[in-house]
Amino acid sequence: MNHKYLELKAELLVNGVNATPQALKEVGSKYKEQNHGLFGWDFENHQDLALPDDFALPDGTIVQFRKNSHSSYLVDLVDSKLILSDGKAPICTVAWLPRPSFYNKSTVSGNKMVKIGQIGGEDCLFFCYQNYCSHFSRNEQCLFCNLVETSTTYNQVLKKKETEDIGEVARAAFSEGTVKHILLTGGCFNHQKEIELVSGIVESIREHTGLNRVPGTILPSPAKTMDEIKRYHASGIGAIGFSMEIWDEKLYKAVCPGKSSDVSHDMFVDSIRNAVDVFGEGNVYGVLVMGLEPRETFLEGVKTLAGIGANIVPFVWSPNPGSKLAGHRAPTSKWYVDAILEAAEIVHDAKVPAGTQNHCYKCDGNSLLHDALRLKGIG
Ligand code: SF4
Repeated sequence: MNHKYLELKAELLVNGVNATPQALKEVGSKYKEQNHGLFGWDFENHQDLALPDDFALPDGTIVQFRKNSHSSYLVDLVDSKLILSDGKAPICTVAWLPRPSFYNKSTVSGNKMVKIGQIGGEDCLFFCYQNYCSHFSRNEQCLFCNLVETSTTYNQVLKKKETEDIGEVARAAFSEGTVKHILLTGGCFNHQKEIELVSGIVESIREHTGLNRVPGTILPSPAKTMDEIKRYHASGIGAIGFSMEIWDEKLYKAVCPGKSSDVSHDMFVDSIRNAVDVFGEGNVYGVLVMGLEPRETFLEGVKTLAGIGANIVPFVWSPNPGSKLAGHRAPTSKWYVDAILEAAEIVHDAKVPAGTQNHCYKCDGNSLLHDALRLKGIG
């Protein structure tokens, strides 16, 4: 991992990128395309254009592809190589990621596998077991969220996936050899039903893959009692995470009106603490959106969570279409790099186990923390 690629990744996430038709020619056939399993991260919608989900920089850093026609960053095909430039001069070669074979297969019940599970980054099999969030109907969705617009614009995935189908997709994906981790998430619904559903899904994945404990993470609806957390652990999933989004309590209430009225900041922290007791240090994640609160409060959050033995996944905010903050601007890439280097220092000093058996830097291209930790030899 090279410092210059951390800076480049931050630039590409904050400003977005373009690609020429030549560069995109084999996206969707040879290379993995976006399938909009949950949210859209591009700066603009692109219904009729297949775009890569993510791509690799020369040192293996994974970057989420965020289309922005106003960005000067451009990927072009030059002498059979994909070259990233800043619009004037070449910067480096990049690589689209291979399209998995299971994207062309169907389950026994006849559903297309790509509509059920998609690969995030290089090695993370993503399932959203139900694309639904009740906060939209009351106009109380999180200001950065575009779940509904993504679903209505692209309509690419099944809204509800059958347990058996998920197991079949997991078997097909793991048998190809590149998948190392699972990420499971769903909408907000009745806790009891969610635990039963998740337990059934993890069991189905175990049965179909022969894995004893599934290497990966479940991101369930928030705020779980100790008993509920134990039941998630008993299902056989390796790690658990909670999307608390914003650390600062007042900003959390403003940015996430619906979610914060259901689950308070303190409830999240208690859940994470309980989960560390059950899953073990390093196997619990606090998920934050980075760029919507001051660096100071973000780092306070990192310090508190790392102090209780949890890892942190801070997504770089995208002012994406369909969210209430569409058209706004994220902080500069320098802000992100400075804050993330400090966050990495805090996580390193707290000696939180890296937890790479469940989630690694190859799993997603929209967090900078795992890249900054690699600079310190972690992960
Ligand atoms: S809780 Fe917030 S981020 Fe999650 S789906 Fe609902 S509105 Fe979106």
